[in-house]
Amino acid sequence: MAEQNIPYKIYLTEEEMPKAWYNLRSDMKNKPAPLLNPGTGKPLTAEELSPIFCDELVAQELDETTPFIEIPEEIRNFYKMYRPSPLVRAYCLEQKLDTPAKIYYKFEGNNTSGSHKLNSAIAQAYYAKKQGLKGVTTETGAGQWGTALSMACSYFGLDCKVYMVKVSYEQKPFRREVMRTYGASVVPSPSETTEVGKKILAEHPGTTGSLGCAISEAVEVATKNPGYRYVLGSVLNQVLLHQSVIGLETKAALDKYGIKPDIIIGCAGGGSNLGGLIAPFMGEKLRGEADYRIIAVEPASCPSFTRGTFAYDFCDTGMICPLAKMYTLGSSFIPSANHAGGLRFHGMSSTLSQLYHDGYMEAISVEQTSVFEAAEMFARVEGILPAPESSHAIRAAVNEALKCKETGEEKTIVFGLTGTGYFDLVAYQKFNDGEMTDTIPTDEEIAASIAKLPKVPEA
Ligand SMILES: *Cc1c(COP(=O)(O)O)cnc(C)c1O
Repeated sequence: MAEQNIPYKIYLTEEEMPKAWYNLRSDMKNKPAPLLNPGTGKPLTAEELSPIFCDELVAQELDETTPFIEIPEEIRNFYKMYRPSPLVRAYCLEQKLDTPAKIYYKFEGNNTSGSHKLNSAIAQAYYAKKQGLKGVTTETGAGQWGTALSMACSYFGLDCKVYMVKVSYEQKPFRREVMRTYGASVVPSPSETTEVGKKILAEHPGTTGSLGCAISEAVEVATKNPGYRYVLGSVLNQVLLHQSVIGLETKAALDKYGIKPDIIIGCAGGGSNLGGLIAPFMGEKLRGEADYRIIAVEPASCPSFTRGTFAYDFCDTGMICPLAKMYTLGSSFIPSANHAGGLRFHGMSSTLSQLYHDGYMEAISVEQTSVFEAAEMFARVEGILPAPESSHAIRAAVNEALKCKETGEEKTIVFGLTGTGYFDLVAYQKFNDGEMTDTIPTDEEIAASIAKLPKVPEA
């Protein structure tokens, strides 16, 4: 394939877009450990999950055998409004780095919510509507998930209640207004509107909140209000399933030009974009059909893969959610207040945790100032203002491309550019003013929250 034949952007036609999601678990020999009921220590059944999640999503959550699950036509039609997302050849970045590496990124920021989260939001809203529910509740950290969900709910005419991590609520008023424009109600978390919120506020007055804490509040509201269910924007198997559309499109676009990646890189918060991007590639790896280096990139201030423990833990600070076996820093872990790069969740998808544990992927952590340096370079040469989260992947891709410059290797690197950074300008301002600092938790701090992991009988 002549190099000059590869366009800056590889698009798929509507016909070439995926018609089914790919369920990575179906190809895993060691399945991710099941969610446990924190009361009994037993795997959660569909009946136990149904007061929390919609029925169809419960079925998807528990399905570890069906390889392909059809994307309903209504969802495919919504996808067509903002997908396929482009796979971009980063010619300008390559030139800037003077690297023989070939760099591609899959850009998921081309929708109003500004990130990949809409891929799962629309699916979750669709199944809630189909079940005849009145509305859904959720948490949001930086605000991308809440924005995506409010867009999806307004499309299907569902009520949407969002608990937003307090620090983000205060730092990102514009996101809040986008959500309200789409009809959602937005409450800063922890709040006085829930029992668990009141308890957390009593114990930690002045807390800036955490995703785990907002999850506890949203779950409480969903289970106490008839006709409501809770939806989550990351971590869960069902979310990784919906996000597989990213990887399926990426693979189809690469296949169109006969390109085989050597390295696939994604940022990792709860693991949904990474799980989605790598899904079909990891499937090939698990089936022994191909090999790829797969790298998860996380913040040094919230390093669940690289410094966490592989154990059962609560997904929320309030300790009311199911237990998931995952790499975790402990559900009481809260990243330092100066951390501005997103990816704040204390745990990690069970599916990715199992794959990492079994040696199918690597993980690295990077400090936020180096992340923003990479973001700035990327913005200047490729034109897109990247989300801080996505910039973790940019940092790692740039590092790999610079290694290729040293060795002269022409590796093909694909990374996920999960979103845009228009609502992260407070963080960019800190960086531009030279006021951004790096805080890395000490071993003692991590050990203190790990010491509070729940005791679970070994299965
Ligand atoms: C939420 C978010 C992430 C991290 O979430 P994952 O579930 O780990 O993908 C990354 N990038 C952007 C832009 C996000 O909004």
